[in-house]
Amino acid sequence: MLVEKVEPNESVLVNVLSACAHLGAMEQGKWIEGYVTKKNVGVTVRLGTALVDMYSKCGCVERALEVFNEMKEKNVRAWSTMIGGLAINGHGEDALCLFSQMEMHGVRPNNVMFVGVLNACSHSRLVDEGSIYFDSMTKDSWECPIGRASRKQLLELEPDHSGRYVLLSNIDAAEGKWGDVAVLRREMKERGVSKMPGCSFIDLRGTIHEFIAGDNSHQQSQEIYAKLEDISKELKLEGHTPNTSAVLLDMDEEEKQTALYHHSEKLAIAFGLINSDPGVTIRITKNLRVCEDCHAAAKMISRIYKCKIVVRDRIRFHHFEDGSCSCMDFW
Ligand code: ZN
Ligand code: ZN
Repeated sequence: MLVEKVEPNESVLVNVLSACAHLGAMEQGKWIEGYVTKKNVGVTVRLGTALVDMYSKCGCVERALEVFNEMKEKNVRAWSTMIGGLAINGHGEDALCLFSQMEMHGVRPNNVMFVGVLNACSHSRLVDEGSIYFDSMTKDSWECPIGRASRKQLLELEPDHSGRYVLLSNIDAAEGKWGDVAVLRREMKERGVSKMPGCSFIDLRGTIHEFIAGDNSHQQSQEIYAKLEDISKELKLEGHTPNTSAVLLDMDEEEKQTALYHHSEKLAIAFGLINSDPGVTIRITKNLRVCEDCHAAAKMISRIYKCKIVVRDRIRFHHFEDGSCSCMDFW
């Protein structure tokens, strides 16, 4: 479009930013922000919100807050995006603080916001705060049979997403509703939804590289596997024992360990370490939840290699630094 010299309007910019947010492509997103500044495009509440969303979903909550604070006009969607962004990045208390500020500004929260606020509490283990907010929501008779409403929305939004069915059937199973579990399984089968393979993306200087578990299609594949060998030796020296409990396949212990070492997020981390300068933040997006072994490994890698690793998974953000994670091992 730019080559054809067509000037993008607000809708195009918002959609491109949303694509960047989805992929975790922060370098491209930054480029769009630069374009907006250079071309003197007015930052409307819609465009500002898209920038806040992009930076939050790329794990750069500091820049998201700056953009949010610079926005002249803020509607409930803008507040809700910023609160949700703080929540998924593990800044639960800041999210709640912003929620109070919003109420002081006279903006009335909507249902999406409630989910954001409860998420903030859950991601930061603020159980007491969570129940106080929940009480106030129900007391003010705001619409809360939240579980059922979100359930319908979840399936309508992404009917082919296996994670949604797994999540819902886990909720039903936890409540002992085995009949509902069976209905969901049947529905999943009828729609032809199968479990997705784990897939990780990494943004390196504006190019997105994609890895699936056991992948050897990347041109640097040999180097990546060699690096993984080094990493696994370092981790063992530091006392890391691979947690193979998540590997359900019928394999012997050594094969299970190899399978774990070839998880997509480990491939992406190895690729990131090979190709970035020391001290650079490695940003990865994963389509599924990070497994326990990769989580433990990433914590150690951040200490051994003195690097920051930001992983966005299906559930939340993990900021790994100096041997620990922002989620405090709760995800
Ligand atoms: Zn893993
Ligand atoms: Zn974590």
